[in-house]
Amino acid sequence: MSENEAVLTIEDLEVEYRIKGKGRLRAVAGVSLEVARGEIVGLVGESGCGKSTVAKAVVGIEKPAAGEIRYRGETVVPLSRIHKRPVSQRNLQMIFQEPASSLNPRRSIGAQVTDALRFATTIPAERYDERVKELLDLVGLPENAAEAYPHQFSGGQKQRACIARALAAEPEVLVADEAISSLDASAQAQIADLLVELVKELDIGLLFISHDLAVISEICDRIAVMYLGKIVEVGTPAQIWFEARHPYARALMRSVPSIGRDGFPEPLAGEVPNPADPPTGCRFHTRCPFVMDKCHTIEPQLIPMDGEGLNQAACLLQEPGNPVDLDAVAARREAAKQETASR
Ligand code: SF4
Repeated sequence: MSENEAVLTIEDLEVEYRIKGKGRLRAVAGVSLEVARGEIVGLVGESGCGKSTVAKAVVGIEKPAAGEIRYRGETVVPLSRIHKRPVSQRNLQMIFQEPASSLNPRRSIGAQVTDALRFATTIPAERYDERVKELLDLVGLPENAAEAYPHQFSGGQKQRACIARALAAEPEVLVADEAISSLDASAQAQIADLLVELVKELDIGLLFISHDLAVISEICDRIAVMYLGKIVEVGTPAQIWFEARHPYARALMRSVPSIGRDGFPEPLAGEVPNPADPPTGCRFHTRCPFVMDKCHTIEPQLIPMDGEGLNQAACLLQEPGNPVDLDAVAARREAAKQETASR
């Protein structure tokens, strides 16, 4: 993807936290990713891998230790520069996990969307009511929802109200951080469908962060898999789901049932290492079934797996443009093990 197609560019992002008496924890350790207009990019990984920290850095809630975030090529983070660029800031809006706690229980939905219009736009005050109705309609809420209070809404309706409030700023990038995970199954599907429709209709970019691999595979154009603060593989849903080139991405996808793939789900083996003291070399080497000696000392970088660069993986088993089939490697190793055992 070229720079001018990208509406959001994250480059070499690092985010650190100080832990009392234990130094620094690098929650995000050099993440680069782009989201184009009209594109949904999914960010997946186990809890604590840093995906929510990436989201918070993108919208300015977390201050990066290093790296850049660009909106249509213009640098909007480091944070100190965000305050000088309110236009850019409002172009990146976030939808949070808990719609109930994102909304003020004492104010009507219409008042809260109006607040967003007042803060983030220059439209005249006499147009606020009309615009609120348009925004509520856009997210599938009835006109009279403007007078309702959050407690009168279901979880799905609250999330629709939060999306309407985010859209009030006319963002060109939405960041959804586990935006459906607190909802029941039918509301999850409806909100996921709504986000897909909004991306297409408004021609905006969406960074969709979730641990729900089925939804991610269903709605995203590309998926980035994170492990211990780093992206280990990027690809289309089909590439990641069926032909992952990184052992962690492969194991993560195999940990859930899949239509169109043989075999039962296999739980991910081993514990996630302490992010404050990550393993040397490849961060996945303590859990990787394909581990080699060099994996303990050499840190792999993302390299292209295909000619278009759509699929990239950071694994020392792989060579640029010459992807190794991990299933074939696993089968060869198993056969060799059995031959040795039978001698
Ligand atoms: Fe496994 Fe080595 Fe690849 Fe890391 S670099 S994923 S340890 S084979």
